[in-house]
Amino acid sequence: QNEKISDQEKVENKTPSQPAVFIPVDRSPEIQEARLKLPVLAEEQVIMEAVRENPCVVICGETGSGKTTQVPQFLYEAGYASGSEIIGITEPRRVAAVSMSHRVAKEMNLSTRVVSYQIRYEGNVTSDTKIKFMTDGVLLKEIQKDFLLQRYSVIIIDEAHERSVYTDILIGLLSRIVPLRNKKGMPMKLLVMSATLRVEDFTDNTKLFRTPPPVIKVDARQFPVTIHFNKRTPMEDYTGEVFHKICKIHRMLPPGGILVFLTGQAEVHNLCRKLRKAFPYRKGNTTTETSETMRKFKKAKQKKTVSLPRIDLDNYSALPVDEGDEDREAGIGDEEDEGSDLDIGDDPASIEEKADPSIPLYVLPLYSLLAPEQQAKVFRPSPHGTRACVVATNVAETSLTIPGIKYVVDCGRVKKRFYDRVTGVSSFRVTWTSQASANQRAGRAGRTEPGHCYRSGLLNCDVSSHVCSQSEILRPSKKINALVAAEQLLVSLGALKEPPRTGRVKEMEQARLSCPITPLGRAMASFPVAPRYAKMLALGRQQDCLPYVIAVVAAMTVREIFEDLDRPACSEDESSKLIQRRARLTQMRRLWAGQGASLLLGDLMVMLGAVGACEFAGCTPKFCEENGLRYKAMVEIRRLRGQLTNAVNAVCPEVGVFVNPKMTPPTEHQVVCLRQIVLAGLGDHLARRVQAEDILDPKWKNGYKTPLLDDPVYIHPTSALFKTLPDFIVYQEIMETTKMYMRGVSAIEAEWIPELLPQYCHFGSPLESPSPWLCSSTGTIKCHRSSTFFRVGWQLPAVEM
Ligand code: ADP
Ligand code: MG
Repeated sequence: QNEKISDQEKVENKTPSQPAVFIPVDRSPEIQEARLKLPVLAEEQVIMEAVRENPCVVICGETGSGKTTQVPQFLYEAGYASGSEIIGITEPRRVAAVSMSHRVAKEMNLSTRVVSYQIRYEGNVTSDTKIKFMTDGVLLKEIQKDFLLQRYSVIIIDEAHERSVYTDILIGLLSRIVPLRNKKGMPMKLLVMSATLRVEDFTDNTKLFRTPPPVIKVDARQFPVTIHFNKRTPMEDYTGEVFHKICKIHRMLPPGGILVFLTGQAEVHNLCRKLRKAFPYRKGNTTTETSETMRKFKKAKQKKTVSLPRIDLDNYSALPVDEGDEDREAGIGDEEDEGSDLDIGDDPASIEEKADPSIPLYVLPLYSLLAPEQQAKVFRPSPHGTRACVVATNVAETSLTIPGIKYVVDCGRVKKRFYDRVTGVSSFRVTWTSQASANQRAGRAGRTEPGHCYRSGLLNCDVSSHVCSQSEILRPSKKINALVAAEQLLVSLGALKEPPRTGRVKEMEQARLSCPITPLGRAMASFPVAPRYAKMLALGRQQDCLPYVIAVVAAMTVREIFEDLDRPACSEDESSKLIQRRARLTQMRRLWAGQGASLLLGDLMVMLGAVGACEFAGCTPKFCEENGLRYKAMVEIRRLRGQLTNAVNAVCPEVGVFVNPKMTPPTEHQVVCLRQIVLAGLGDHLARRVQAEDILDPKWKNGYKTPLLDDPVYIHPTSALFKTLPDFIVYQEIMETTKMYMRGVSAIEAEWIPELLPQYCHFGSPLESPSPWLCSSTGTIKCHRSSTFFRVGWQLPAVEM
């Protein structure tokens, strides 16, 4: 402490504006002991000195070295939040922002009023907040409001290695904000934290920083991890393979938690069920005498070293991770390191019978949509006499460090969302993980002692597909295309004026850059939602539709409001029950859509019905459970409705919209207005049903044509409009699974198109095209101006379209 103070005084003479106080933190002895073991603590002096002397500092260290939880505390203790300014940390994932804020509050013995978080629509920030965890999107929004970020003394960009689009934009902006603040005499610091050593992107980029920022490497206390590859050619049934591997580890190998990486929520659930069945754990069925447990493990261990020391590892070959890396060799000689000596040579098929269910496996799922209290379980010690087994998606890869993991079973794949900006089709595809991800996953096994990682099918596999998909992502032209597409969308929504298409290139560029934003665009910019939804909100004031528009937008922005109906069942009995429940819930959803006029609003009416009904029932977990709604989603919608209402009130204070949480259902008249508002916002997501007489290929039966896709898209069977099949619809998104399905479908009237989507229309003569038609070559809609627009008594927006 003394040293610190003198150090501080030294610096103080140099830059008097730097914080000079030390804020004591009252940590519990257990916390104190645990944090002393974290590698980052050894670097506290170095880090703080670098921060004092440089505007920007890069810190890199393996996951689990303590960056996220400790660095904010260093800054807090050094007085960076002692005045009115606060410390901000961004995380690419919401899960991490929430759980890390809780963890740091606990470590510092401070309330969540002081160590808080803010994610898109939710947070616990107060006027007392000193340390604020947030998603990078939230900070970006704050920069829009206050470019100098005057509330903050420090911004930490965490997990910069993930290179999310936002991270890159943020670092770009902050590299300007930081010098600007220093120039104005309100110094601000930027810390970039990364889990990998690939930091050249941040340091070598002389465009970003005039002098490259110092890089502080935190020596990870990483124990060696032995990697076992599967020698077989990649098997399709990788989940089955993973299951056998876990059974073997649990049966044969010494104590230590297992962390399993799968690609998605359904897989996680499925495997959890299988594992619970194979090694049941009920409260109380653990062997209370530890001696018994230990005896069993000892026996297994003896078998390992004595009977079969060099067995063929069931098609796995052992390789040390990162050969030649001195730091990681530290644990060599430790008996656990000899991966090739492990006896797990049984025939996979016979494992289940041999499985010893007397040592229960404490199985926990982990994925981002999981309820927070379920997520928190992975940080607690597993019940006495059990072995922990966490079955996770890649959320466990870097953001969250799960204690006590000794074995990692990696399926070698990852599920990624692909979004084709040209066609607007989203799909989830399972691809190979990258080498970097695979190493990150393996690293989770060596946190507390040497560990093992079992990988499925990464050897001998055809890597070309993987290499392609990676390089495709990195192609810079893709990014530019995305920007052009984004601009086009804003033009077509009427938020930006159309940039000139003729003239000299330079002039065209200049005109584009002069940012011809329209009044509608300005109104849209004030809503913290995507442009399509922002337009709906901007128009929603009419005919008292706003509370409904807010509810629908809130429901559409939340990832999934309905409980997952496709969750796989385990037993016959269970599966028939599941089918019954599924049928009942689908029926219930249709009820919310109602009949007649309201049914035409389709799935958006279902959302509105769900939000309205849930609110009347008091938004209880019980109501959600009974009606197949995700409670977490409903709570999020509720918060978002409040936030959007505030945003609306801020935009037009004279209107003073008051959103009653308990809304009455919209009138028929309002439903028609709502459908028009939806069309105005989702207009580029228009589809027309292919008429019977036009069907040449049977695949077009019940199919819809969109301007850009050559193939038919369909209304999803769970949709309220699945049987109605209206002629013209707009959809929220297209998901490709077995077919291309539209989700979030509403019916619209053809007559509305020329009025509400003139920018998409090609106005020909009435003879040429009797009804609006989608022209696939140009992506426009052909129709004629004389089409009558069915006005339901509401004016077109006063704002320019
Ligand atoms: P890094 O950011 O370098 O990956 P963290 O600061 O996230 O590291 O984690 C440091 C340590 O704190 C890890 O050993 C981790 O297990 C522990 N830890 C993090 N969150 C929790 C929690 N909620 N409960 C218990 N331990 C935690
Ligand atoms: Mg971290």
